Amino acid sequence: MRKFKSTRSDLTLNPKEAIIAGLAEDNGLFVPTFLDEVNIDLEKLIGCNYSTVAFNILKEFLYDFTEEELYHCINNAYDQKWHNDEIVPLSIYNNISFAEIYHGKTQAFKDIALSILPYFMTTAIQSTKENKEIVILTATSGDTGKAALAGFGDVPGISIAVFFPLDGVSAVQELQMTTEEAKNSHVIKVKGNFDDCQTGVKQIFKDSEIREIFSDNNIKLSSANSINIGRLLPQIVYYFTTYLKLVENKKIELGDKINFVVPTGNFGNILAGYYAQKIGLPINKLICASNDNKVLTDFLNTGHYDIKQREMIKTISPSMDILISSNVERLLFDLSNQDSEKVKQLMDNLTFDKKYEITELLSNKNDIFYANFATVDDTLTTIKKVYDELNYVIDPHTAVGYKVYEDYKNDTNDKTETVILSTASPYKFPESVIKAIKGDVNSGGIDLLDELYELTNNEIPKELNELRDKPVKHETIIRKEEMKSSISKWLLE
Ligand SMILES: *Cc1c(COP(=O)(O)O)cnc(C)c1O
Repeated sequence: MRKFKSTRSDLTLNPKEAIIAGLAEDNGLFVPTFLDEVNIDLEKLIGCNYSTVAFNILKEFLYDFTEEELYHCINNAYDQKWHNDEIVPLSIYNNISFAEIYHGKTQAFKDIALSILPYFMTTAIQSTKENKEIVILTATSGDTGKAALAGFGDVPGISIAVFFPLDGVSAVQELQMTTEEAKNSHVIKVKGNFDDCQTGVKQIFKDSEIREIFSDNNIKLSSANSINIGRLLPQIVYYFTTYLKLVENKKIELGDKINFVVPTGNFGNILAGYYAQKIGLPINKLICASNDNKVLTDFLNTGHYDIKQREMIKTISPSMDILISSNVERLLFDLSNQDSEKVKQLMDNLTFDKKYEITELLSNKNDIFYANFATVDDTLTTIKKVYDELNYVIDPHTAVGYKVYEDYKNDTNDKTETVILSTASPYKFPESVIKAIKGDVNSGGIDLLDELYELTNNEIPKELNELRDKPVKHETIIRKEEMKSSISKWLLE
């Protein structure tokens, strides 16, 4: 029987329950244990639009949603609020294509999942008839925060708290979050980095005192981070639609394998690609691209996950400034043949020794990943190079991907058709992009959008343009030790 199971114990839940829970009580992540049973018929999906492909994939996983419920979620998520009616358009060049997964309301790919997760959640809550208030806790390295606020803002029965690292996000990203107007929102800057925010959120989940207080007040905690399985599943869809577009454009034949390059931080996006391959998408390599915080490059190449000797390095691709990549836990679960005891032990090692090692598991099983990294200088050079060669403007995260793809070609000579997942609009990082292309900036603040406009010829997304006139509503700064008290104060006042 199909079930979602915790990576760290035998706890199993139905999809609706797992989505409401977000994180398992044992601090494990929910995973589908039935990937081998799912096989998507690609031929049937040729020519279908995004929503139809989404339906055909999601129904395999969310089996306790009725067809009507699932269509309700999909149709409300992928509608006119997208800046491109294909949802994920593909920019095809001679030797490379870019799947632009960033055309949602907040200009990063997090919108793909966070525009549907609130519908999953409200649908799930209705069927439990529990009548509890849901509180979504979110740690963000920059993009999840605003996408979660946009999705959950002013949704009845739900409140949302976002923690982001002080000085750890771009100026545009920060303004997007601190100007949030929704009444049910709580946006807090933390003196720390993303890992501190994410660890703090996980600790609040584990905290028995806080669980008790909340259950007394009829409050249930959940998560909008990619630790929530409801975040991950919608991301499988664009791997399929992108593949189908290459078939429709005669770049490949149905059945040919392709590569995906994935700029990676918390390992959610690339894990969705891994799941896509498991359920039948012909993928040759998933190319894992990191920035200077290259813990994943080293892990996939050596089997050693080690954060003992590492300090977080601030880069110009802040959404990938992560050392503790949560979704690797789901990969470990799969590589270990669903051995939750093993996964728990490895995760305990990471917590207490700041490292673990799975050399054997990786060498037996792992031939799908290639991993490499790009420095800040590489990233700037690559933005310029792509602009000069293709007259195409990419954001710093996508540039990390492009640079690592070049490494891959040099290392392997592989000629397989390849798609780079373009994870954010360049307008979210105007300063870095203009500096890369012109050498320096002439303006500052939100005027950088105008300066970038002259380079891209693409309209400034209206949500970013509107930031000019919006007052800042959230200014609180706390220490990382204060996350728990900040949440209880906000909820109980
Ligand atoms: C979140 C994010 C990433 C990293 O994705 P993960 O799923 O965390 O690996 C890369 N680029 C951008 C722009 C992002 O917002």
